[in-house]
Amino acid sequence: MVISRPRGTNDFLPEVTGKWQKLEAMLRELCRQYGYQEIRTPIFEETELFNRGVGSTTDIVQKEMYTFSDHGGRSITLRPENTASACRAYLENKLYGQIQPVKLYYMGPMFRYEKPQAGRFRQFHQFGIELFGTEDPAADAEVICFAWELYRRLQIKNLQLKINSVGCPHCRPQYKQALQDFFRPHLNELCPSCQSRFERNPLRILDCKSPICQEIGNGAPLIYDFLCEDCRDHFQQVQSFLNAAGIAFELDPHMVRGLDYYTKTAFEIQVAAIGAQSAVCGGGRYDGLIEELGGEPTPAVGFALGMERIFSALAGQSDELETKDGIDAYIISSSAPQLRAASFALANTLRSAGLSTEIELGKKSFKAQMKAADRFHAAFAVIFGEDEFAQGTAAVKDMSSGEQINIPLDELATYLCAHRQ
Ligand code: ATP
Ligand code: MG
Repeated sequence: MVISRPRGTNDFLPEVTGKWQKLEAMLRELCRQYGYQEIRTPIFEETELFNRGVGSTTDIVQKEMYTFSDHGGRSITLRPENTASACRAYLENKLYGQIQPVKLYYMGPMFRYEKPQAGRFRQFHQFGIELFGTEDPAADAEVICFAWELYRRLQIKNLQLKINSVGCPHCRPQYKQALQDFFRPHLNELCPSCQSRFERNPLRILDCKSPICQEIGNGAPLIYDFLCEDCRDHFQQVQSFLNAAGIAFELDPHMVRGLDYYTKTAFEIQVAAIGAQSAVCGGGRYDGLIEELGGEPTPAVGFALGMERIFSALAGQSDELETKDGIDAYIISSSAPQLRAASFALANTLRSAGLSTEIELGKKSFKAQMKAADRFHAAFAVIFGEDEFAQGTAAVKDMSSGEQINIPLDELATYLCAHRQ
């Protein structure tokens, strides 16, 4: 019996891995331009890191983690996201001792036990940035600009940027209280998740996806009426910086992150066209998280985006990540042993010179090899038959113009390098 891959995972085959590489290169180039450096943390961590760093009341920790005990009896979890690990690494490697801010990025697989559907997988890939060590609202705006710029370069259409402020430990308790007062009479009508959110995490009721909770939530008090002066001023400044950069945004008072260590800015980018899984990117400020993980209070802001959702968003529109395949040279020769050895050596020489080169590995006819050169979209067919072998040359056929010329073997690599597209 053939074994299948686990539910909610993907095999990315060569026809799509080229696009992944292009997206990765684009992200790394953005990081270079914005000054973010890569961090690579373990795929698995102690479970406690996520209990504290993601939050024990979140769906991720309550329902979605891949947790197991290892042979030493430790509780280990496959990372469901990377912010907690980045903060742990910042503390463990004393990055707070370096010049601040510290600007990091990561990219790689994350694991969540979710109900697999379009755009929602159990192993998926995130890219994210984290900016540690400054509370300046320009930092929030920089992080948002970074995300926006990526989607602009990808030319994804129908994008919406939503921003909000979730306040801080000074002003949020009053808002939490007002929300509980508001939702209390409706407690029985809320979905089971929201009923359990009511005590510890009532802000999360506001961004529940259930239509009933949404309808009830429509009349809820707004956080804007509760923000303290510091939070209000910070939010204003983030908006001014975004305006200065010419980035259009919408205020969405119901977009929240309910945990105490999330502070001030929250933002999300959505693509209307991809339906229920429309969030392509989410982020915000988390000034309380490093402290939650045992460090000194350290302001921080960042975002994470789902890489699979970029491909969903690009499906059906002209695609910036479309890759051009095609090799530089296809060597066509005969199956005579002497010639096979010489053409094999020639392929090696061309590859050493940096040319992508294919050669027949079986014993196909001349005609079949010519067809193969077409199938590989070779820029040049290098014909190396008995005559050429005897003369120490090769016949180079330009596959787009059909023109053919003879080139001495010792000049072949130089000629092809100079003439490839
Ligand atoms: P959602 O509301 O869609 O579940 P989330 O709030 O759980 O998203 P975050 O934890 O903020 O998402 O992760 C950031 C981004 O990672 C999301 O905006 C989304 O693009 C992507 N993402 C999250 N979960 C998955 C998943 N299971 N499969 C694919 N992409 C995902
Ligand atoms: Mg989720």
